[in-house]
Amino acid sequence: MIKRPRILTGDRPTGKLHLGHYVGTLQNRVRLQAQYDCFFLVADFHMLTTRLDRELLTETKTNIHDVVLDNLSVGIDPNASVYVLQSFVPQIAEIALIFANLVTVPRLQRVPTLKDVMHDLEIEQPSVGLLNYPVLQAADILCVRADLVPVGKDQASHLEVTREIARRFNSLYGEGVLPEPETLIGDVPTLVGLDGQAKASKSLGNAIFLSDDAKTVEQKVRGMYTDPKRIRADIPGQVEGNPVFIYHDAFNDDLAEVADLKERYRQGNVGDVEVKRKLAAAINRFLEPIRQRRTELEAQPNIVAEVLAAGSERARSEAAETLRRMKEAMGLAYYG
Ligand code: ATP
Ligand code: MG
Repeated sequence: MIKRPRILTGDRPTGKLHLGHYVGTLQNRVRLQAQYDCFFLVADFHMLTTRLDRELLTETKTNIHDVVLDNLSVGIDPNASVYVLQSFVPQIAEIALIFANLVTVPRLQRVPTLKDVMHDLEIEQPSVGLLNYPVLQAADILCVRADLVPVGKDQASHLEVTREIARRFNSLYGEGVLPEPETLIGDVPTLVGLDGQAKASKSLGNAIFLSDDAKTVEQKVRGMYTDPKRIRADIPGQVEGNPVFIYHDAFNDDLAEVADLKERYRQGNVGDVEVKRKLAAAINRFLEPIRQRRTELEAQPNIVAEVLAAGSERARSEAAETLRRMKEAMGLAYYG
C-alpha cells in the first residue's frame, strides 16, 4: 500500500476558535482530510509558554473540549482524522529535547512571532519555554513525520525553524530520516479583527466565534470597524482594506450581492446599516451548518475524551517509531 502524505497542525487550548481560524487553517483541514492522513494536535504544552496562572489553567479542560468540538463541528471527521492531545504523547517532549541542540539561541530570538508575543503580553524577558516554542512545534510536526502543515500566516516563521531542524538532523545523521514539511497558508493568511486590528484573536476579544449564536453575530457585526471617513451614507467609501468588505469577501457566498454592495459603497449609494445587515446574514448562513453539527455533537458527552484517547494512542505509536529511527540514525540505539 502506498503511504499517504501526512498533515499535522493544531491549536492551543486557550479559548474557542473563531472565523480567523477557519479561513487561516480549518478550511484547509476540511479540504485535505480525504487526501492526507491528518493529525490535529491540541497543544496544551504550548499553552504554558504564555499562560501559567493557576486560575487560568483550571480552564484548560474546558478549552480542550471547545477546541476539539470546534474542529469536529466544521466537519473534520474523527473517523478519518487523528485528534491528539500533546501532553498525552511524551515522545514529543523527548524529541524536542534532542532538537533543542540543533538550533541556536540567537536564531530563536530572531523569530518574529517571539517579538510580537512579548510586545502583546508585555513580557520583558522570554522564558526558556517561550523561546523554545518553535522547537517544540518542530517536535509536534516531525514526531508523526508530517509532510504538510496548514496554518495561518503568523505561523510561517515557525515552520522555517522546523525545516531547518529537519535539514540539520538529516545532514548530521542521514538524509531522509526526517521529512522537510511544507507550509500551507489559508485563503485569508491573517483575518483582521472586528475592530480593524491586524489579527482577529481569541485573546483580544475582536473575533466572531464559530460557536456564536445568530444574535451575537448581528451585534458584533453592527459594532464592526469600517471606513472612519464615511460619516454619512452618501459619502463615497473605501472598499479596499475595509474590514466589513474583507469579511464579505471571505464569508458571503452571494458574489453578486457583494459586487453590488462594493459598487454602491464606492459611489456613496449605500448605508453601513445595509452593508452590515447583509454581512451578518451571510455569516449566519455560513455558521448555520456548523451550529447544527455542534448541537448533534453536544448530545454525545464523551466524544471529545474518546476521540483524544484514541488519537493520542495512535500518535504515541507514530512518535515512538520516529524516536526509534532518530536514535538509530544518531547511533544511540543501545540495547536492541
Ligand atoms: P493565541 O492568542 O492563544 O495564540 P490564536 O488565535 O493565535 O490564539 P492559535 O491556537 O495560536 O490561535 O492558532 C491556531 C491556528 O489558527 C494557527 O494556524 C494560526 O496561524 C491560525 N490563526 C489564528 N488567528 C488567525 C487569524 N486571525 N487569521 C488567520 N489565521 C489565524
Ligand atoms: Mg497563536
